[in-house]
Amino acid sequence: MKRHRFSASKRELAGHCLWWADPDNELPEDTVGPAALIGTAFHTCAERTILACGERVDPFAICEEMELAPEHHDAVQIRYDGAYEAIKAKAQIPGIQVEVKYAYSKVNGRILKAEGPRDYSDAKPWELVGTVDIAYIQDGTLVIEDWKTGRKPPRARWALQLHMLGAAAHRAMGALGHTLDGNVRVVVLHVLPDGTVNEDSYTLSGEELQRECETLDALLEQLGGHPEPKGGDHCTSLYCPARRVCPSTQGAMLTMPTSIPTIMTMEDAASWRKKLDLVRAAADALEKELKQYVDKHGDLDMGDGRGWGPVSQTRDKLTLNAKAFAYLKRKLNKEKLEEAAPRSISKSSLKKALGSDLDKTLEHLTTLDAVEQSTSVRYQLKKYVPRED
Ligand code: SF4
Repeated sequence: MKRHRFSASKRELAGHCLWWADPDNELPEDTVGPAALIGTAFHTCAERTILACGERVDPFAICEEMELAPEHHDAVQIRYDGAYEAIKAKAQIPGIQVEVKYAYSKVNGRILKAEGPRDYSDAKPWELVGTVDIAYIQDGTLVIEDWKTGRKPPRARWALQLHMLGAAAHRAMGALGHTLDGNVRVVVLHVLPDGTVNEDSYTLSGEELQRECETLDALLEQLGGHPEPKGGDHCTSLYCPARRVCPSTQGAMLTMPTSIPTIMTMEDAASWRKKLDLVRAAADALEKELKQYVDKHGDLDMGDGRGWGPVSQTRDKLTLNAKAFAYLKRKLNKEKLEEAAPRSISKSSLKKALGSDLDKTLEHLTTLDAVEQSTSVRYQLKKYVPRED
């Protein structure tokens, strides 16, 4: 069990509920999924490349050092290779700093001493914390940038995590005597699975920063008063770390009726809607627990010949490079090609256009580096086969 700090990555959740961040509430350790581990390894590769003034690092060695499972090494390597030029360009920015940890309190902002990616041990209990991937000053404006390897990061304009970091970093840099123009430019660097980097930026004005400071001060005030849990769909959609133990989700489970109620009034409907979100949050937490159990002990025996556990699915993804596109152009007529072959095409769309010729065509597209395999895991019912060990 551990206490969960209010860090910038949870800024959006904090705007809905703060019970999870109350230092008096102990939460179970959260498990980190493969996507987050791949993201952390990529961050480390980018950080070390910038610290080495743009010299390439070895992503495999970093994956091994971070004890990342071998099946995820390629995902890190591909992202790093694709993003390398963008990372190298960052390394040339004068005065660039990487992985800077900040603390924010009502009266102060400061840089923390840290020894690793999530080390906030230097922070006081009443301080809010966060890590900036890249920070520098350009023509008097403080710029903070954040690598994002997830599927759909928010636009910089709405990235509250970066707004909070902007407020903390601006205070800390000001306290260190830097001359700043009062604005902060926040930049989201979205790294796609192939390493393409999409950059999106927004400049927070002095008034917007002031508003963010006022919001953070109000959240700090609430935190000091032991906030009540406030459930809603944010419990699941913003990954609250307290879902398994929160009294709000547990209470909702207890108030669920044994049969579906007939809803007669708006008030009733709104109240059931809210309970449903909480029950869903609790159900998601239970599902996560079940997945962890089967990962450790093998498939569940459901007693009717069926089991429940992970199933790997591998599928071919076609990305049409110039050579592959030209090849398909020769094989298909123009309309069919336009209909069937945008830059990225599914195997089923190609099958529709090619019919029986699919296998031979795929074989040739593979030689042109246009076919990539992606593997995903689903947990589902299947024939029960007991684990041998
Ligand atoms: S599960 Fe929901 S109600 Fe409970 S602490 Fe988290 S956000 Fe708040």
